[in-house]
Amino acid sequence: MTTTYTLKAIDEFTCIGADCEDNCCKKWQVQVDPETLDRWQHLAKGSLKDQLLRETTISTLDGEKITSITIKDNGNCYHLDDQGLCGIQTELGADSLPNICNNFPRQHYQSDTTNIHSGSMACPEIARIVVENTDANIFSKIEAKENSLNHIGKGENALEDYLDTWTRLVMQTNDIPISVKLYYIGKVTNDLNAYAENNELDEKTVVEICKNFQNYLGDILTAVDNKKLSVDSVSAGWFWDIIYNFSSKTFTKLSKHYELVDPVVTLNIPKQKKSAQDFKNLYTQVSKLLADTRPQFTDLQLGLNQYLKTLFINMGFPWNPIGGNFIASYIKSVFHFASTWYLLALVARSKGSLDSHDLARVIVHVERDYFHNPRVANAMKKNPALFDIENYLSSLLDLH
Ligand code: SF4
Repeated sequence: MTTTYTLKAIDEFTCIGADCEDNCCKKWQVQVDPETLDRWQHLAKGSLKDQLLRETTISTLDGEKITSITIKDNGNCYHLDDQGLCGIQTELGADSLPNICNNFPRQHYQSDTTNIHSGSMACPEIARIVVENTDANIFSKIEAKENSLNHIGKGENALEDYLDTWTRLVMQTNDIPISVKLYYIGKVTNDLNAYAENNELDEKTVVEICKNFQNYLGDILTAVDNKKLSVDSVSAGWFWDIIYNFSSKTFTKLSKHYELVDPVVTLNIPKQKKSAQDFKNLYTQVSKLLADTRPQFTDLQLGLNQYLKTLFINMGFPWNPIGGNFIASYIKSVFHFASTWYLLALVARSKGSLDSHDLARVIVHVERDYFHNPRVANAMKKNPALFDIENYLSSLLDLH
């Protein structure tokens, strides 16, 4: 049986075009996928072919070659005309558009047992609908799948299906803080990975680790409340330093909407961090920012939950993990999420309050900057310590 999940936001979505505050044809680098570039190179000789190939920009980011459409001085895509129409579509039809233009904001994934119709939160409308959705279930047709952890079924993707159901059940436990859920899911992911590496990941182990998740969540919450589980300041400083570096580009964009003061100045972040003390100092500053702005997050808890659930799904966690590695999908989700949290805290400091529109706007900018940006994936490739979730798991306890 194949189960199809559809993000409710995709069912509700209508492009608002000219009314869109972050229109996807404006102020955003449109990436040209290799297949589209090949199609353009094989067009008949002529001015249009010349123009398409001329108006691309090749850049490298962390060693990755990126081909994108030239952006005009006013920030618009080169091919967007004065009437707001796309020149490529008008001249050549939708088949000649880069894949991203054709599909955006729709995202579709398929495995042997699961179809997922999801949406990119780089689209402000999708982000808005996701964070304003008050249903625990953000996907429709979820009832087609058994929503319990009674057994691991049969079939090629049985384990992924089981973990998928488990992740949803954990995420839907709305009375538990996000930090505790993130901590728990990360710990389980790490444990499962350790078993898998030793070829010991069998049905019995998975069920044993996952089945009593409510008890484990309760135990973690009690340990945090009793201060038996707390953040390690050196590893947390290292974690936030990574988030700070990943987020610097997004920070610049958000500064155009909000009067944000450079964190290097406000948080007194040293440029070169060498010693454990440097990381401790950085953590002290960031945790103060998070603590000071925490009251502003109170009304956003449901929206943040919905965002995180969608993020996990869009990153393929755990049903279709990046490169077959659950940890990679988990880390990518967590880094997106923590970046959003950090930038929201800076917005809260500047603005004094947060609403769902601020949340959606920060999500859109994080998604846009990370979408084309291989920095997270490259950092993960270069830095094996990032795969050791235990190194920074407790840092996530600040996200509540
Ligand atoms: S970002 Fe979304 S709502 Fe805005 S123009 Fe693009 S598809 Fe439409």
